[in-house]
Amino acid sequence: MIEAKKIPEVFGTMVFRDKDMKERLSPEIYAKLHKTIDNGEPLSPEIAGSVADAMKEWAMERGATHYTHWFQPMTGITAEKHDSFIEPDGNGGLIMKFSGKALIKGEPDASSFPSGGLRATFEARGYTAWDPTSPAFVKQNTLCIPTAFCSYSGEVLDKKTPLLRSMEIINVSAKRILRLFGKDVHRVITTAGAEQEYFLIPKEMYDKRLDLKLCGRTLFGARPPKGQQLDDHYFGAIKVKVKEFMDELDEELWKLGILAKTEHNEVAPSQHELAPIFTTTNIACDHNQLTMELMKRIAEKHGLVCLLHEKPFAGVNGSGKHNNWSLSTSDGVNLLEPGDSPSDNAQFLLFLTAVISAVDEYADLLRISVASVSNDHRLGASEAPPAIVSIFLGEELNDIYKSIESATPYNKKDSTYMDVGASVLPVFPKDNTDRNRTSPFAFTGNKFEFRMLGANDSIACANIMLNTIVSDTLDRYADALEGVKPEEFNSAVTALIRSEYKAHKRVIFNGNGYSHEWELEAMARGLHNYKTTVDAVPHYTDEKNVALFERKGIFTATEIASRRDILLENYSSMLSIEAAAMVDIARKFIVPASLSYIGELSKILADKKASGIKACRTERALVDKLSDYTDLAYGYACELSDALAAADGYEHGIERAKYLANTVKPCMEKLRAAADELEPLTAKKYWPYPSYSDLLFGV
Ligand code: ADP
Ligand code: MG
Repeated sequence: MIEAKKIPEVFGTMVFRDKDMKERLSPEIYAKLHKTIDNGEPLSPEIAGSVADAMKEWAMERGATHYTHWFQPMTGITAEKHDSFIEPDGNGGLIMKFSGKALIKGEPDASSFPSGGLRATFEARGYTAWDPTSPAFVKQNTLCIPTAFCSYSGEVLDKKTPLLRSMEIINVSAKRILRLFGKDVHRVITTAGAEQEYFLIPKEMYDKRLDLKLCGRTLFGARPPKGQQLDDHYFGAIKVKVKEFMDELDEELWKLGILAKTEHNEVAPSQHELAPIFTTTNIACDHNQLTMELMKRIAEKHGLVCLLHEKPFAGVNGSGKHNNWSLSTSDGVNLLEPGDSPSDNAQFLLFLTAVISAVDEYADLLRISVASVSNDHRLGASEAPPAIVSIFLGEELNDIYKSIESATPYNKKDSTYMDVGASVLPVFPKDNTDRNRTSPFAFTGNKFEFRMLGANDSIACANIMLNTIVSDTLDRYADALEGVKPEEFNSAVTALIRSEYKAHKRVIFNGNGYSHEWELEAMARGLHNYKTTVDAVPHYTDEKNVALFERKGIFTATEIASRRDILLENYSSMLSIEAAAMVDIARKFIVPASLSYIGELSKILADKKASGIKACRTERALVDKLSDYTDLAYGYACELSDALAAADGYEHGIERAKYLANTVKPCMEKLRAAADELEPLTAKKYWPYPSYSDLLFGV
């Protein structure tokens, strides 16, 4: 473990930081590179060579022998293809070389990445282009250059390009609003802090579970005698082995400049969480990808396996990711922080209102941004937020909005009115705003916390949606307010907030999001309740959504259609793999195991009979019960196998996804139920894989 006082020294040492650029580049080239980074200008080929050379020297000092364009295709994980720096020197020897061209552009074979029909396989060409706003870094002896990934005809094939675009448009819209308040800021950025949940289980147990290896979750498994009923794991003392893992993880993350801050145990046994300090969204996105990758790699070094699946164990809390989101000026002023002057407050309330309005109008897009076969296990089950998108504001802000809406005092005791632009917001305790853990989208004092993301999700998609919808709303507000005379500005802002609140207050809900009453109430309010991926994803291409993305220059209609299809195909593929794995495990392991045990019991029965022993109620009862459930399990396995085979008759896309959701998934559930009845009845020595207790309490 690293010495505490050395931490500042190692922090960021594997990142090509500003200070490294300054040290290694001529002042002229450094200035030009900075212009590129700060203003998003393209890097000119003349300076690319010098930058590449400096990067290579820096990386080689850190052990790098290879480089890679590191990108984020639609698979949701990162992709890299390594090239070494070696070049023949012409005299039978080698030099280590990294050219400007190789820095700026790469050409991976794009045919094997999902494109949703955007690129025919014969047009395998795609290219990656350096995103100079995310710093390069060294990982596993490789210089990694964060890049965007596009097809040659310019279609976006990744998660980074639209994220960067969405950050650009919200910068423009937010600056328009700030200008109305007399503020001319250089840039507005969006910030994100992703709290990451995960499970750690013993590697030797994991290796014995085919379902975990193939699907990342258990497809079978009877409930253990002890689950999370006692809540004794949450914030409990961290076990030695886990602590060693966390220490190494922190150290490796710090070297990569990732601000890993909080590590603690979660609610479920073997479940933990890591929260970093927030940063600019695209860097937060890179950092979260790296965090997930490092978690998996470092766990193995400690004889553990890190599970990032949203629901590895039935009946035990799943893992999510909270995306904390805010807007900030480039000088670090948080635009969702209530101010202490009347004008600052009017501005704060306007930004806050824009988020409320955007979330209400485009709740479907937020739901889609977290839709996956694995997250379907969480959303709507009473542990994660419900599938209905609603906003938690807290009592104080609620009262303030009501006061604005109806010109009634928000503070009944001293009859204080909320007069936007004239009165100062009351100071409200931040803690109070964060109590409702059931809300999918909560205002937590100076940021919003979007809690619907799955543990495995890239945070890119959620942030693309947030930035785009809020930018669009801010533009609408700016259009309405830009022509207003200064003396009428305050009343115009008040009127806008009032009408927007009235139009969108249905999305605000401060009660218990897990309750059935809320489901009914939400329906009455006209809010969406897309319980599954199959319900949600087809709405990606709804007219209003396509119009939004085209208006904002984030996606073309074709790109959205391709993204919708990728989501549906991922859904179908994953569900098909799970179904096939279940059939396999049931037929090859579970049924034979129970038959063997039945065989042993039958032999005992026969022996007893031969010796004239009459008392054999237990053996008989067990044989009967086991035989019944084995018949069921075998029958359901055959049914599932047939249902799965019939999936081929459905077109890829929504038809197949619907068929799998409506026909195949129920068969999977039946098979699991029967097999899970067999597990506690079967002698341990016959059971083919470790139990939930072995997995959850094994570390
Ligand atoms: P809690 O632990 O109660 O959920 P914290 O205030 O500790 O709340 O924050 C949780 C996460 O939110 C952290 O990752 C933190 O860095 C992030 N966060 C805090 N402020 C902001 C902000 N302005 N923008 C984005 N994320 C933020
Ligand atoms: Mg949180």
